[in-house]
Amino acid sequence: MLVVMRDHASQPEIDHVVDLLVEAGAQAHLSQGEVKTIIGVIGERELIYSLELEGLPGVEEVIRVLKPYKLVSRDFQAEDTVVRIGAHSVVGGGAVAVIAGPCSVESEEQMLSVARSVKAAGATMLRGGAYKPRTSPYAFQGMGVEGLKLLREAANEVGLPVVTEVLDVRDAETVAEWADVLQVGARNMQNFMMLEELGSISKPVLLKRGLSATIEEVLSAAEYVLKGGNREVMLCERGIRTFETYTRNTLDLAAVAALKQLTHLPVIVDPSHATGRRDLVAVMCRAGIVAGADGIMVEVHPDPEHAKCDGPQSLRPESFEELMEGVVPLIRMTGRHLGWE
Ligand code: PEP
Ligand code: MN
Repeated sequence: MLVVMRDHASQPEIDHVVDLLVEAGAQAHLSQGEVKTIIGVIGERELIYSLELEGLPGVEEVIRVLKPYKLVSRDFQAEDTVVRIGAHSVVGGGAVAVIAGPCSVESEEQMLSVARSVKAAGATMLRGGAYKPRTSPYAFQGMGVEGLKLLREAANEVGLPVVTEVLDVRDAETVAEWADVLQVGARNMQNFMMLEELGSISKPVLLKRGLSATIEEVLSAAEYVLKGGNREVMLCERGIRTFETYTRNTLDLAAVAALKQLTHLPVIVDPSHATGRRDLVAVMCRAGIVAGADGIMVEVHPDPEHAKCDGPQSLRPESFEELMEGVVPLIRMTGRHLGWE
């Protein structure tokens, strides 16, 4: 941290700041020019950041140079985090996940049919929402525990692990009983109580980027989960809100590449929610893989016209098969492999 003093700050003002820092157990290194004095502060992050130096006499500015996250950063761990889910599914360190399934669990037939088709096409995990975060309170809210059971049964039938959303911290334990990966939706990315709770659960977490969250905010949210003791976190770029209305959101591929530099955690790309249009999903999956994503998440429905949620962005099973034909060679071309061992 740097404390920049006002031009010609007096010696007693400078000494006062230094005394406070030393009292708090930090080291103060002075750089004293003719006009300006800058105090470099070294000490424990939480301690020095909690000092209220801004309002002190003679202080112009306090610059925090340390990032607000630590455990998620490449500086802390250089090698990729590899998350293993179930007996065969792997994400990170060269293993690329393909998570596919409907937006929401609707019925036993729907889940069985979609599970069989995505598994046959090469998906490595099955998705489906039992608790749906809907913009309107009158829209379909999901089947709840009944949905979790149908999702689990369909997944067991085809031998895939399950990813599903925890919408409310009160459901975390129940969802963890049925699911292999707990998804935190975009609208909950900064639900800090939820993040803390998931930090103490021994199941991997898929953390989706908030609708208007910065890269630093995504990483700080993930930091909560790691700080709680759960190191198995995957991030998901699912599009951010911009002025563009042609697509549902704007897929931020630069964020995928940037996150790969900044963090060792796997990064998944979700072109279904990012574009909102089925005709753009396959091409943006390929773009995501080339940008370095460790996985893709795709909504697939056996009958999108009658889907209870997100039909316009859901692929029919045949289109998902085609998508895989384009994606798998690209995974190999980028020196990686499908996350199934
Ligand atoms: C979802 O994956 O079904 C979902 C609701 O996504 P998001 O939280 O990104 O909107
Ligand atoms: Mn959806």
